[in-house]
Amino acid sequence: RAKSTRGRVARYRVEDDPHGRDRLQTLEALRAALTRGELVCHYQPKVTLSDGAVRSVEALVRWQHPDRGLLTPDTFLPLAEQTGLMRPLTLAVLDQSLRQLRTWRDQGRTLSVAVNLSVTNLLDTDLPDDVARLLQAHDVPPSALVLEITESVLMADSRRAGSVVDTLRSLGVGLSIDDYGTGYSSLSYLQDLPVDELKLDRAFVGRLVADPRSAAIVRSTVDLAHSLGLRLVAEGVEDAATLDLLRGYGCDVSQGYHHSRPLPADRLEAWLDARGR
Ligand code: C2E
Ligand code: CA
Ligand code: CA
Ligand code: CA
Repeated sequence: RAKSTRGRVARYRVEDDPHGRDRLQTLEALRAALTRGELVCHYQPKVTLSDGAVRSVEALVRWQHPDRGLLTPDTFLPLAEQTGLMRPLTLAVLDQSLRQLRTWRDQGRTLSVAVNLSVTNLLDTDLPDDVARLLQAHDVPPSALVLEITESVLMADSRRAGSVVDTLRSLGVGLSIDDYGTGYSSLSYLQDLPVDELKLDRAFVGRLVADPRSAAIVRSTVDLAHSLGLRLVAEGVEDAATLDLLRGYGCDVSQGYHHSRPLPADRLEAWLDARGR
């Protein structure tokens, strides 16, 4: 297998081996998975702290692999990103989650859904048309869709990404900055980007209780968000102590294992029904 120039045996990674058999097999399998519908969305609730209501869920993609079981995105997203499969993957996730949202709204559940976009998606000037078409196909109002974008996306090619973001915005969809605080943060885009929400990365949230510095960062980020008229979402909330602190800081929305793991649609419905709201 792959040897580094220094003679150390490097750990084999599919994405580092452009001509490798494993990579080609995985690539073919991923392509087939897309057409066979093996990519499925799980949904994780976003809990509004003021009243405990769930108004939104985040769609997180999984690969229901015929032999290897349920695969998490870290095992196949990098490959999709490098091989031009990110566009069909995102369209599949949007299609599936908007169809699901239609079903939920028909059941009287007034939810919105959040979908993650990757770097390549935001450099794709066809994306806004795709989003508009899918919203229409599933008869979902634009305001019921939130697109989560990361800071790295905005740094990559900010002019082009910025124009895609503006066009998406003009459709009326919500925009969220994901993993907030982990990028080579430049506050300047907060001045210009028409976003509705900041999602503070779980690196800060996870250390909130134990580490005063993390607590200070979280507290000031809540204030920053509110000064800009944005909603602050804390991700990776794993326990009640963290939740209590977040509530005290005035954080708007909480998401994490403390509330629920990402669940298949039917199990999320059962979870929502059991909460009785
Ligand atoms: P993300 O958007 O930051 O999503 C949050 C990740 O944290 C998810 O991992 C979720 O399962 C996990 N998580 C949620 N609550 C907790 C918690 O309390 N503790 C901990 N330790 N983890 C928690 P997942 O589903 O494996 O997704 C990983 C990443 O893959 C996502 O990070 C996102 O960047 C990407 N991704 C997932 N689905 C999609 C998709 O449909 N399209 C694109 N472009 N990217 C996606
Ligand atoms: Ca996300
Ligand atoms: Ca995140
Ligand atoms: Ca992340």
